[in-house]
Amino acid sequence: MSDLRDLYHEVIIDHSKSPRNFREIDPADCKAQGYNPLCGDELTVFMRLDGDVVEDISFIGSGCAISKASASMMTAHLKGKSKEYAEAAFQEFHKMITGQGEDAFDKALLGKLAVFSGVCEFPVRVKCASLPWHTMHTALEEKGEKVTTE
Ligand code: ZN
Repeated sequence: MSDLRDLYHEVIIDHSKSPRNFREIDPADCKAQGYNPLCGDELTVFMRLDGDVVEDISFIGSGCAISKASASMMTAHLKGKSKEYAEAAFQEFHKMITGQGEDAFDKALLGKLAVFSGVCEFPVRVKCASLPWHTMHTALEEKGEKVTTE
C-alpha cells in the first residue's frame, strides 16, 4: 500500500503541474461545467464524438492538485474509447474512491487510475477526484447543466 501511496503522490504532482488535454475543444459535441463548492474546484469538460467513440476529450478550469490530476488522467484514459466504456469507467472509479473495498471495483478496467484508490481515506478529497468524472458523465448525457458535488 505504501508503494501505491508514493505513486499516488508522484502522479498527482506530475498531472497537476502539467495537465494533459488542458484546452478547449471548439466546437465540442458536448460539454459540461462542474463545481465543487467544498474546495472551490471549477472545471469544464469538452468532448468530441465520432459515433460512439470519444474522439477527443479535454478540460479547462481551476482547482486543487487532486481535481486537476484526476481530470488530466481521466481525459488521457478515455480518449479513443467508447461512450459505454467511459460510463463504465465512471461507475468503477466512483466505487473505488468511495471505498467500497478492494474487490468492489474492476481494477483491470481502471488501470493507472487505481492510484486514486487512496483518496477514499480522505472524504473531503473524494469530491475533488470525482468532480471531473461527474462532469464528463453529465456532458455525455448532454444535459448541459452545471454540475455540483453538493
Ligand atoms: Zn479540490
